[in-house]
Amino acid sequence: MSVVTLIGAGPGDPELMTRQAWRLLGEADVVLHDALINLPAMREAAPNASWLSVGKRAGKTSVDQAFICRALVGYARQGMRVVRLKGGDPSLFGRATEEIAACRAAGVAVQVVPGVTAACAAAAELQASLTQRGVSRSVVFVTARIGRGESAETEWLQASMAAETVVVYMGGGQAQAIAQRLIEAGKDALTPVCVVENAGGTGVRLQTTLLQLARCGLPALPGPVCLLIGAAMSEAAIVDNPLVQNEPVVVQS
Ligand code: SAH
Repeated sequence: MSVVTLIGAGPGDPELMTRQAWRLLGEADVVLHDALINLPAMREAAPNASWLSVGKRAGKTSVDQAFICRALVGYARQGMRVVRLKGGDPSLFGRATEEIAACRAAGVAVQVVPGVTAACAAAAELQASLTQRGVSRSVVFVTARIGRGESAETEWLQASMAAETVVVYMGGGQAQAIAQRLIEAGKDALTPVCVVENAGGTGVRLQTTLLQLARCGLPALPGPVCLLIGAAMSEAAIVDNPLVQNEPVVVQS
C-alpha cells in the first residue's frame, strides 16, 4: 500500500530532527520539502532520493498547495515512498490538513512524524521557558497573517490577550503593527518581547518591549522570524551562544 509520510524537520538544524524522522527520510524515494535552513545537511539522510522544493516564503512566489497535494498523491500512486518534509512541526501553520485530506481521498495511507516547532526551538535558544510558575500558565501560538477568504482578522488578537505568553508565527514583517495592536488592546506596553530569526541556525536574537517594537518596528530580516511576547521572556538570555554564531543585539526600551 502506498504511503505518504509528513515529517516535521524541526527549525532547520538536522540535530533537532527525531530519529524516526531521520530514519523515514532515509527510506524515501522522493522528498517534497519546504524552504529549510540547512537543506544540504538534511539531504544527507536521503542522498539518493529526488528532492523537490515546494517551499513557501513570505512575499515570494510559492508553489500552489493544490499542486503539492496532487504531487504527493501522484508519486505515491507510482509506488514511490513519498516524504513531505515540513519545517518545524507539521501540525502548526503547515497546511497539513489539506495534504492529509488529499491522501485520504485518494486512498493513500498517511503517517505523520512530529517535529520541534519554531516556538520551542526559539525558547530553547533564549534559555527562556514559555511557561513559568507564577508568571505564565498559558501559551498561544498565533499568526496574524490572514489567508484569502478568512475574515476573523482579530482572532489572533483575542487569543493573544487571553494568554500570558504569545508566540507569533509569520509576524516578522508585521511586527510593528502587531505590537501596536496588542498595546491598543490592553497589553502592558513594557511587556518583554524576544525576536528570534532562524532558530536552529544563524540569525538575529533580540530583546525589546512591545512599546519599543510599536515605535521602531524591526529591520528587514531575511530568515523566518518568531516573536515571543510575555513576562516570561524577561528571563531570556541574549548571549553570544557558542553553539550558534550570532550577533547579540539588545535594544533598550
Ligand atoms: N510548522 C512550522 C511553522 C510554519 S509557518 C513550525 O512548527 O515551526 C512559518 C513560520 O514559522 C515562520 O514565518 C516563522 O514565524 C516560524 N519559523 C519557522 N522556522 C523558524 C525558525 N527556524 N526560526 C524562527 N522562526 C521560524
